[in-house]
Amino acid sequence: VIHTGAGNFSLADYTAGEVAERHRAMEEALRAGHRVLADGGDALDAVQAAINVLEDSPLFNAGRGAVFTHEGTHELDAAIMDGRTRNAGAVAGVKHVRNPIDLARLVMERSPHVMLAGEGAEAFAKEQGGITFVDQDYFYTERRWRSLQRALGRPGGGEQAGASYDDGGARGEPAWKFGTVGAVALDRHGNLAAGTSTGGMTNKRFGRIGDAPIIGAGTFADNQSCAVSATGHGEFFIRWTVAADICARVRYQGATLSDAADAVINGVLREVGGDGGVIAMDRHGNVAMPFNTTGMGRGYMGPDGVAVLMLTHEDARPLPTGR
Ligand code: ASP
Repeated sequence: VIHTGAGNFSLADYTAGEVAERHRAMEEALRAGHRVLADGGDALDAVQAAINVLEDSPLFNAGRGAVFTHEGTHELDAAIMDGRTRNAGAVAGVKHVRNPIDLARLVMERSPHVMLAGEGAEAFAKEQGGITFVDQDYFYTERRWRSLQRALGRPGGGEQAGASYDDGGARGEPAWKFGTVGAVALDRHGNLAAGTSTGGMTNKRFGRIGDAPIIGAGTFADNQSCAVSATGHGEFFIRWTVAADICARVRYQGATLSDAADAVINGVLREVGGDGGVIAMDRHGNVAMPFNTTGMGRGYMGPDGVAVLMLTHEDARPLPTGR
């Protein structure tokens, strides 16, 4: 199951060609994850493979298509978690790593730590090897540059909090979007995994870190309950520990996955103005994808290998239920 970010957009904001382009990239990501699982591979590898495809696409706010900071640079965050062991790895504010999810995995597997940030994370990557480094130019896309210019030109938009989720419009305007990517998977051994990768928010400053790399906020996986990857206004997802809360409801309240995810996204978060959504899966293969914005790119592929892709509430389709 994948997501490509929540936001306030409708299908009418896209041309047919743009929808098709997004669908193509999303299907390719699902296929990459599916291939791993169909070959008997691990949920963790499937999550990483799917996210790598989305990170390499300029369409999404992760890897290649990462948004610009206030200073016109790029700082990327990512996390991955193994539901079997509750091992987790995360990186925050990395600037030259092509696929931050790969580095998050390396932190999980080859360091005694959970989260590494900035230059330290990159030094660790160099020492370990196997991570592709790129210049900041690699992350330049015209669309994101224009978003930053708009964010900077907006009265009051530059100075104080200033950060925006802008990807074509401003917050509250029709085309406001997030664009983070994430994946959750269940493999044939019954193991769950979750991963999230993002460029954060347009015009962010002062080393701002969002929820994506914070275990229990934007990313969480535990075989006993569920796997979650989030997208939305990170500050709310951190304070309401969204991913962990959903899985705790499943585990301790015996709530169904869909009730738990819905209660947090459409109940708790909606009440406080925390915009966004999640993709979630439990150990039975039930899937939930609630979002309290008008849109959230999302899709799934079951054992049949058929990609089901959705962008808004308008094109919602039935979700898989587990055995
Ligand atoms: N959650 C991300 C953040 O706050 C933004 C997003 O979902 O696109 O950094």
